[in-house]
Amino acid sequence: MTPEEFRRYGHDLIDWLADHHARRDSLPVQAITQPGEIRAQLPTSPPDAPEPFGNVIADLDRLIVPGLSIWQSRNFFGYFPANALPAGILGDLVSTGLGVLGLSWQSGPAITEVEEVVTDWVRQMVGLEAGWRGVIQDTASTSTLVALICARERATNYALAGAGLQAGGQRLIVYVSAHSHSSVDKAALMAGYGRDNLRLVPCDENYAMRPDALAAMIAADRAAGHHPCAIVATVGTTATTAFDPVGAIAAIAQQHGIWFHVDAAMAGSAMILPECRHLWAGIDGADSLVINAHKWLGVPFDCSLYFVRDPQHLVRVMGTNPSFLQSTVDDKVANLRDWGIPLGRRFRALKLWFVLREQGVAALQARLRRDIANARDFAATVSATPGWRVLAPVQLQTICLRHEPPGLTDDALDAHTKGWAERINASGAAYLTPAVLDGRWMVRVSIGALPTEAADVAALWAVMQAAVG
Ligand SMILES: *Cc1c(COP(=O)(O)O)cnc(C)c1O
Repeated sequence: MTPEEFRRYGHDLIDWLADHHARRDSLPVQAITQPGEIRAQLPTSPPDAPEPFGNVIADLDRLIVPGLSIWQSRNFFGYFPANALPAGILGDLVSTGLGVLGLSWQSGPAITEVEEVVTDWVRQMVGLEAGWRGVIQDTASTSTLVALICARERATNYALAGAGLQAGGQRLIVYVSAHSHSSVDKAALMAGYGRDNLRLVPCDENYAMRPDALAAMIAADRAAGHHPCAIVATVGTTATTAFDPVGAIAAIAQQHGIWFHVDAAMAGSAMILPECRHLWAGIDGADSLVINAHKWLGVPFDCSLYFVRDPQHLVRVMGTNPSFLQSTVDDKVANLRDWGIPLGRRFRALKLWFVLREQGVAALQARLRRDIANARDFAATVSATPGWRVLAPVQLQTICLRHEPPGLTDDALDAHTKGWAERINASGAAYLTPAVLDGRWMVRVSIGALPTEAADVAALWAVMQAAVG
């Protein structure tokens, strides 16, 4: 591709994306694609000769878009908002287009320094104390894995520098809530704790971790000669957006010298609203924290902010220093490869920087407040309608609900719930996530796509009422 062709196709593709944005609300929200349907349309072997690039672009419309669910649609109420603000899309384009790699500060000083600045901006935006330091990871899954490795190494006085997991000794125990995200389980297993050493702390009626149950489990483990090592609390659980009591848990963690990690992947964004910060009161007592800027906040995936209180410990656990990466300024700079698992670092900070500057904090706050108000109004409407029930407190933008016609057995009710949700999803009119809560199917309505306004929620409600009839 010549420089002139690059310019032309680049313009074409921005136009194509802008057109896609303009028409995406009219596309089926859930892809209406059969398994294997896309693959069957692709050649099984790579092209030998170059193809005209225009053919590649044409295949986006022909092959790719029909095989996508439209996360950015105003009718997307599935999973969680994974918003891609236009400024962030352009930031990602520039990051890729520059073709730079952060292996060390020296390999691209701006990559490190912009990241240090923007993660500190976010720290201020969510009201964390000045002692926290941030770094960008790909996902919350990775951030939580890093946290649990750091917890393990603090508890074992850096066993990784010696016999590692083969050293024997006490069992290290990790405490999570029964409503924590599957990535937390996975991180504990990957970090070598073992499922036998993962404790599921019971929740209260609002699906929040019970500190009294946590304290009792810790006492029992200590009495059995085990080493309570890490607690993971969730600020905004996946099923119901429940909030574990961070302050009470932090006090327990401090009392026993246990690492305290907070998974605020989804709801951390809400902490840019001062009126929401009571939901994580006590957060400054944690050791580590993850907030996904790539969810509700609006930075295109992937951009997960991992904050720690003790960056020296992080670097001691994650640090490597091969000769080819050493430089004369290493004592004056951060080498962010030592703040996580991968060596190579994309310039992810750029898309966050673009978003924060193009939006300003006030616009981000206004959008989140819009979504919270829409969720509150919707929950009130559902609760007030006979036959419908809201199943969990609506603290932010997720509503867990069920339509409960009288006289159904539990199994028939499950079939009814899955049936109407799947009918809506298959129709393409809107996208909702059915999920299990307390052993029964329910439907999660997650409000917060960028274009979703109150009128769109009202339209969804009409679709839901028609679907259950
Ligand atoms: C989305 C989410 C995760 C997983 O996030 P990834 O960045 O996809 O790994 C973990 N925990 C919670 C609470 C989440 O909402």
